[in-house]
Amino acid sequence: MSTIHTNDAANTITRMLEMGLAPYLLSSALLGVVAQRLVRKICPFCVTTYQGAEGGVDIPLLSEQTLSYGRGCSRCNETGYSGRLGIFEVLPFSDTVREMVDQSASAYRIRQEAIREGMDTLAMDGLAKILDGITTVQEINRVLGKNWSQDLCLPTSTAPST
Ligand SMILES: [Zn+2]
Repeated sequence: MSTIHTNDAANTITRMLEMGLAPYLLSSALLGVVAQRLVRKICPFCVTTYQGAEGGVDIPLLSEQTLSYGRGCSRCNETGYSGRLGIFEVLPFSDTVREMVDQSASAYRIRQEAIREGMDTLAMDGLAKILDGITTVQEINRVLGKNWSQDLCLPTSTAPST
């Protein structure tokens, strides 16, 4: 297992190719690629809920939802958070993805194919963890950038990066 810092799983593949790894080595040696971010979990002792729009959340999918945050208490040193949790994006090397890697397809195209095949992106996992009351919108904004929700409206709204 090895760690490369990139924005998402598909970019990890192209980064490895840029580092000089032959595409056939990459596609035959790897089962897949994982991207991960660590977010703080809401403190269970002071967790409370609010309506997205009333809390100033202007993300369409979330503004109508009941969301959670930690008010802050003695158990969490008034931070509202306790512990950490990973959010993940797992990109399995299907036959199609393998072929695309062999042909040095762009990270954008590999990513679109993986999503078409059912990959949950970091943004989707982040959204799930927000709706489950495990972490806050602010934490997902912090680790994914405040425009992360645009990544949920796939595939046509995302501009190719390479
Ligand atoms: Zn607390």
